[in-house]
Amino acid sequence: MLKKIILLFLFSLLLTSCQKQTFPDDNAVKLPDTPPVTDTETAEVTETEPTVIGELEGRVFCIDPGHGDFAEAYTEPIGPGATETKAAFVSGTSGSYQTEAEFNLKMAYLLKGMLEEKGAAVHMTRTDKNAALSNIGRAEFANGLGCDMVVRIHADGSENTSAKGISVLIPAQNQYLNDPYVLSASKNAGQYVLDSMISAAGAENRGLILRDDLTGFNWTKVPCILVECGFMSNPDEDLLLADENYRILLAEGITKGLIEYYMTVQ
Ligand SMILES: [Zn+2]
Repeated sequence: MLKKIILLFLFSLLLTSCQKQTFPDDNAVKLPDTPPVTDTETAEVTETEPTVIGELEGRVFCIDPGHGDFAEAYTEPIGPGATETKAAFVSGTSGSYQTEAEFNLKMAYLLKGMLEEKGAAVHMTRTDKNAALSNIGRAEFANGLGCDMVVRIHADGSENTSAKGISVLIPAQNQYLNDPYVLSASKNAGQYVLDSMISAAGAENRGLILRDDLTGFNWTKVPCILVECGFMSNPDEDLLLADENYRILLAEGITKGLIEYYMTVQ
């Protein structure tokens, strides 16, 4: 009996020492090189890098900076099947500090950055001083994208140097454009963008203006608005349009207006 007890004791001693000496996993677990991901760490990652879904996530926009340099002058029909024609390329107005085409492009890039920051995909009808596309070409470029909205960017000019303020042009129903969705989406988005731009820039409100004579509107198959950001012929507004801080306010106004509009249609 005693022998048995001693043998059992020795055996258990052997087993214990074997466990200690021969379990390589024991060491592997203690290696600090690749610490396992703990719940705490996962929670920390979620806390410090939250997944932010932008308000314009999934939206596709086409920004159309008006005018630009062009190689040839010709006319094109103002709408599908129209006999009436208009110039395919137009130079635009000019201020004391920049041409309208230059202003429109600066605004377009500012707006592009802001819309992308909110999660939208943004395309532009021109990305430098050259206007490669005619007015029909710009509309067809946007139609081909099947984008949610076209934002055409312009500045105004007038012989009356006291004229000032912001207006948003929207397509009117006519023989060329009769799509209820395009018409209503343009009108509703236009109103939100106008209100938001006026509020952001503190400019005079010249209203929402229906137009049935613009080639870019008559050829569109997607919602389309045209923002007239101010008058380059007005000395005060011309100075403001030359100030990047003011352009940022305008672009922020457009962005906020679009966000507010899409909140109503979701
Ligand atoms: Zn223009």
